Amino acid sequence: MGVVQAGEDSNAGSALSYWGRQPGERLREVANRNLATYVRQELYPFSAYYRRVFDQAGVDPRSIRTVADLARLPFTTKQDLLATQADPKTRLDFVLRPTPERIKSDWPFGRKLALVLGGARARAALRRAYTPSFLTFTTGRSTEPVGFAYTPHDLDVLSEATARMFELMHVTSDSERIVNLFPFAPHLAFWAVTLGGFRTGRLVVPSGGGKVLGTDGNLRLIERMRATSLISIPGFLYHVLRRGNELGTSFEHVRTVVLGAEKVPPGMKARMQECLERGGAKNVNILGTYGFTEARMAFGECPTDVRHSSGYHVFPDLGVFELIDPKTGQVVPDGQDGELVYTGTSGHGTSVLRYRTGDLAVGGMTWEPCPHCGRNLPRISSTLRRASEQHALNLTKIKGTLVDLAQIGSLLSEMREVEEWQVVLKKHNDDPLELDEMEIRVAARAGVPADTVKTLVSTQVAQLSEVRPSRVSVHSLAEMLEFVGMESQLKEKRFLDTRPK
Ligand SMILES: [Zn+2]
Repeated sequence: MGVVQAGEDSNAGSALSYWGRQPGERLREVANRNLATYVRQELYPFSAYYRRVFDQAGVDPRSIRTVADLARLPFTTKQDLLATQADPKTRLDFVLRPTPERIKSDWPFGRKLALVLGGARARAALRRAYTPSFLTFTTGRSTEPVGFAYTPHDLDVLSEATARMFELMHVTSDSERIVNLFPFAPHLAFWAVTLGGFRTGRLVVPSGGGKVLGTDGNLRLIERMRATSLISIPGFLYHVLRRGNELGTSFEHVRTVVLGAEKVPPGMKARMQECLERGGAKNVNILGTYGFTEARMAFGECPTDVRHSSGYHVFPDLGVFELIDPKTGQVVPDGQDGELVYTGTSGHGTSVLRYRTGDLAVGGMTWEPCPHCGRNLPRISSTLRRASEQHALNLTKIKGTLVDLAQIGSLLSEMREVEEWQVVLKKHNDDPLELDEMEIRVAARAGVPADTVKTLVSTQVAQLSEVRPSRVSVHSLAEMLEFVGMESQLKEKRFLDTRPK
């Protein structure tokens, strides 16, 4: 299926401006129509996994006409992906693999005719559109990574989605000089930005993050390029900016900061703004994104004051979201908290339907026009939490009490007195039979006495989680950066669990 592409010469005719202008009703109509076509002509005929799902549920693929109809089908979870991938017989069951028989039985006459009339060329194009040429992987801490295959068609869709995001974020001028600080890795974030640059023709220079150039190397690159935009994991960029202030690095050309791959902790944007202004930047937009491996694309905020968020603008022509109650699995109405469930409607390669992201959007999704940019695209609340019910990755038992580590992480990131932090879980004296201990390591902000930060962290964590940390230790910033592996790791190590499994 074709994808409407971003304008090549000007933004006036771009897909973003086109879709952003359509009334909500029409967007819903397009979402429904694309979903119906996709299920009938792509997913059901070519995905071994979903053919089984539809057949077992007794659902005729032709009866899926609207997003609401999806409720008749079961969810797909990370466990489903892991189990399918683990068995050599089912390994490729989530990948769309057309066969002449399935095309014959499931494609409409017109599409078949085009294939026949197109001859060898049409057959070659078909092969190209469906043959995987690239993979990215999930970054689960406690599970095997899951591979997601992209065909050239999917790389096209990803390029288009990122190009739309650049436009949404005003990263479009001819003189744009973008530094991509995401680590070189087989992960969505780095490639989304790279392909977005290729598609839009804007200058995007990859630094590879801390591991390749080091912090000071990144700063030299930013200064020498007179970078106008920085795209990075939040924790690492904050570290780079802070170091830049120490070295007196100029950020005077920076106009846009785009954060991705991890949640933006509350208060982080304001801290970054301070650092950037200290380096001479003015009126910087600091924007968050939400992307995940299974969607093979990311969604962004449009420019607002750092204290506000527009929410993540999504593209109803490329995929659809449902919001569900994580306990009951029931779809919740617009504007209510719910776990995000994603169905792609434009992809080939590894494709998912009703995929449970495990992310709970507080405030849900809205179809109201964006008060900041005026576009009618639906928006997902940027306050995301883990819907921990079934995804217990962040929940752990300490001293017999269930503790949400992600919440403790948010608290520590938000505390003005804390510069860097790490949570260490261990057994007393490293004896497996002994009690659990939670140590919190922190570097205090400049000017905050060690005792003050110790007391604050201890009481606030105890209030939040009902477990008082066994120890709060205060370290120098350099020591903390070493602990979290700011330069040596792909992602900072914020939680360290050394308890025997
Ligand atoms: Zn907006």
